[in-house]
Amino acid sequence: MGIVVQKYGGSSVADAAGIKRVAQRIVNTKKAGHQVVVVVSAMGDTTDELIDLANEVSPLPPARELDMLLTAGERMSMAVLAMAIHDLGHEARSFTGSQAGVITDAEHGKAKIIDVTPGRIQTAIDEGAIAIVAGFQGVSQTTKDITTLGRGGSDTTAVALAVALRADVCEIYSDVDGIFTADPRIEPHARKVPRISYEETLEMAAQGAKILHLRCVEYARRYDMPIHVRSSFSEKEGTWVVKAEDVAQEESMEAAIITGVAHDRSQAKITVVGVPDKPGEAAAIFRAVADAQINIDMIVQNVSAAATSLTDISFTLPSGEGQTAMTALDRLKAEVGFDGLQYDDSIGKVSIVGAGMSSSPGISARFFEALSEAGVNIEMISTSEIRVSVVVAESQVQDAVNAAHAAFDLGSDEIEAVVYGGTGR
Ligand code: ASP
Ligand code: MG
Repeated sequence: MGIVVQKYGGSSVADAAGIKRVAQRIVNTKKAGHQVVVVVSAMGDTTDELIDLANEVSPLPPARELDMLLTAGERMSMAVLAMAIHDLGHEARSFTGSQAGVITDAEHGKAKIIDVTPGRIQTAIDEGAIAIVAGFQGVSQTTKDITTLGRGGSDTTAVALAVALRADVCEIYSDVDGIFTADPRIEPHARKVPRISYEETLEMAAQGAKILHLRCVEYARRYDMPIHVRSSFSEKEGTWVVKAEDVAQEESMEAAIITGVAHDRSQAKITVVGVPDKPGEAAAIFRAVADAQINIDMIVQNVSAAATSLTDISFTLPSGEGQTAMTALDRLKAEVGFDGLQYDDSIGKVSIVGAGMSSSPGISARFFEALSEAGVNIEMISTSEIRVSVVVAESQVQDAVNAAHAAFDLGSDEIEAVVYGGTGR
């Protein structure tokens, strides 16, 4: 039997009882004959509390020191988890990200993993110990400073270690039983998806489904590492995230066309009103937004009115960046010569995702009909090969999700989803 990497999120290790429960699970995996490497997140809401603390001390804490502070959260959990395993009569050794060989670039707060050299982890498991690694952190190759990978980054630590150790599987434990056809908190009939492709998972995560850290899925796809998303509170089989061919093989003849419905309330919309319809205008607008380091999502440009030769351009962006974008664009007003700016952050995005849609016509029509029957007005539309997204009023997000879920027969008769833990992951 091979190497299993298990990652436990904050809600699974929220308190001493949680730590002991997880320790028992880890020991059971070891007893079943596997070599076990565990990645842990900070306990409960520790990371948020540490950020609050930093902000109390300084409105703009230096990024280097913030990383140093936040990585302490994962260090606490790795040490106490190792103690709990010792108490069950098994050897466990804890390692910081740096000790585990997680090498990153120097971008504090959002460092990228550039290499993983898990020599000490390999030695530990070869000697029969269970290795416990602090998630979400590494060490910069150039500055040798401690870095963090961005919120939710422990998922990525786990997949990166699994790849470097050639593990059989990377198990990601949270407080829900897997990936669902929609967020069970707003869609009570949501069903657990047994298998889903990397591509669909990426689309779901990018469209706001809080399932896995985006970069962890990208990493898993690049190296074809199967991820098993499951709950640490139950023994149930979770959701397998695998390559598309492996989903197709398992699925019945009548494969689902739509795999899930995702929603995102964290976006805002900016409309640039009265833009002269001539070359270079859109370029100037989006250059200004890009130079402000803002990631935009959907863009819609209207056909210009014949009488005025003016057009409107709308785009969506994370609402946290709204103010910055408005300021940057306002500076451009005279140069580009548009009439004005509108800002709206009471919007939401609802997306249907499914690999099957590229080969079946009428998916958008069915989606839009369902929205219209539910009285939901569509403000913007965008698509990819395997996704259709709409922007709607924030107050209509739940209605839109429920309508899409029903229109594509995604619901189950029983209530399947159980949320066991707290708010953390
Ligand atoms: N503790 C970090 C966070 O809350 C990393 C993680 O949980 O994956 O974002
Ligand atoms: Mg967390």
